[in-house]
Amino acid sequence: MDRRFDGAEQFAEGAQYIGGRLRSGSSGRTHAVVDPATGAEILAYELAGPADVDAAVAAAGNALPAWAGATPGERSDALHRFAGILAERSEDLARAESAQCGKPIRLTTGFDVPGTVDNAAFFAGAARHLEGRSAGEYSADHTSYIRREPIGVVGSIAPWNYPLQMAAWKVLPAIAAGNTVVLKPAELTPLTSLMFARAATDAGIPDGVVNVVSGAGRDAGERLVGHPAVAMTSFTGSTPVGRRVAEIATATVKRLHLELGGKAPFVVFDDADLEAAVHGAVAGALINTGQDCTAATRAYVQRPLYEAFVSGVADLMATVRLGDPFDPATDLGPLISHAQRDRVAGFVDRARSYATVVTGGEAPAGELAKGAYYLPTLVTGAAQDSEIVQDEVFGPVLAVLPFDSDDEGIALANDTPYGLAASAWSRDVYRTGRATRELKAGCVWINDHIPILSEMPHGGYKASGYGKDMSAYSFEEYTQVKHVMFDNTAVARKPWHRTVFTVG
Ligand code: NAD
Repeated sequence: MDRRFDGAEQFAEGAQYIGGRLRSGSSGRTHAVVDPATGAEILAYELAGPADVDAAVAAAGNALPAWAGATPGERSDALHRFAGILAERSEDLARAESAQCGKPIRLTTGFDVPGTVDNAAFFAGAARHLEGRSAGEYSADHTSYIRREPIGVVGSIAPWNYPLQMAAWKVLPAIAAGNTVVLKPAELTPLTSLMFARAATDAGIPDGVVNVVSGAGRDAGERLVGHPAVAMTSFTGSTPVGRRVAEIATATVKRLHLELGGKAPFVVFDDADLEAAVHGAVAGALINTGQDCTAATRAYVQRPLYEAFVSGVADLMATVRLGDPFDPATDLGPLISHAQRDRVAGFVDRARSYATVVTGGEAPAGELAKGAYYLPTLVTGAAQDSEIVQDEVFGPVLAVLPFDSDDEGIALANDTPYGLAASAWSRDVYRTGRATRELKAGCVWINDHIPILSEMPHGGYKASGYGKDMSAYSFEEYTQVKHVMFDNTAVARKPWHRTVFTVG
């Protein structure tokens, strides 16, 4: 596959998508999208400023009445066409995503893009299936029913680790339910969000239903969260930024959906299939170069399997091929930027004073040295309260710790502020059943780690946030429920009026 992705040609008019067309930002500040595998500039664009956010919110507000008033069938038809266009453009989307993120092309063609197309197809169907409770006479004198209504203009903010999938997760349920959206992608990775919005327009989704403002968090992001005409903020990103977003959103009394950081535990009981656990741990820790909020980051292994697990993981990590993201033979691409690579290296370098770096722990030399690459890294001997076990590293780094009793394994797994995802590995249905009940996370896998489905919800417990992406559950975020109550009696002087005055 050709690696060239000509950002300058595709986005000559600018990197803001407002009211169905591309235009330049007006912040006066330029940002460069850089290929992290080579350091080459892909696109320099003017960031969105407050005026661009205001224009996008106005476009979304103008589009709202007609889109909210469309029938579910009409919205569904448009989403089916949208899914079709995304599928036709799969190769372009995969190339752009690999170029701006450094993701291996096998990952973008096998996961990011088909996942996005499947999400669009799912929400095309789900749009016709927005349910409420049945109408009924909960008092003999009244009939009650429920209307499920869109919230309004949704301001969505997304991170850089899965830009296309995050655009899909944020935009699709919102528009399927009749809302309109202003999406702010991370400033490092706006390209596929813009391509996604353009595909929406080409599918016949009206101008202004999907808008993209490519701007920095502090100005464009905060403007969007604080905007009085935005009814809801849907944020995916780190927990510290999520706290800041929550403060601003709370001040304007907005509906809030927060998908935040993770530190997923991977619990291996002593009857587990060791080969499956080793392969699952390496794949689960290294997917997307470890820049995955559900990545396996802390493996707890029951003492009888501990040594074999550590050596199995070290051996398998050594076979993982780093390389050009556009080479189909490449397993692991660079991190998103040199700054992120240095941040990851900082965690590992500090860990050397209290733990053992079994393998990795450095950037590769030679051809790859100019990219933001970092070797797959295995750390053992770290204490449970050390930063490498507690904090989100967001790189290709797995810490492994031993445990003795099942109680201890589950307690250690639950012992971080996060609760996005977890996995447990055992052949014993009672042990795995207990793990599903007791692990405090929004998703628990048994004998696997990572797979996601459009039909199933994704979302956190604890400091990983609240609310659900994907699945019919996401409609709970993007709709509000209205109780409608009809009097059935046609009586002017109703019995309940006696609580206020004497009824003759
Ligand atoms: P980040 O929190 O730094 O940024 C996320 C987004 O918020 C970006 O668009 C950024 O520009 C914007 N932003 C930054 N400061 C802001 C502010 N003050 N006001 C408004 N917006 C602001 O996260 P990141 O580094 O882009 O992504 C990595 C993080 O995302 C990790 O913590 C990861 O776990 C998390 N993540 C979570 C999920 C999930 O589903 N829970 C999925 C993917 C990524």
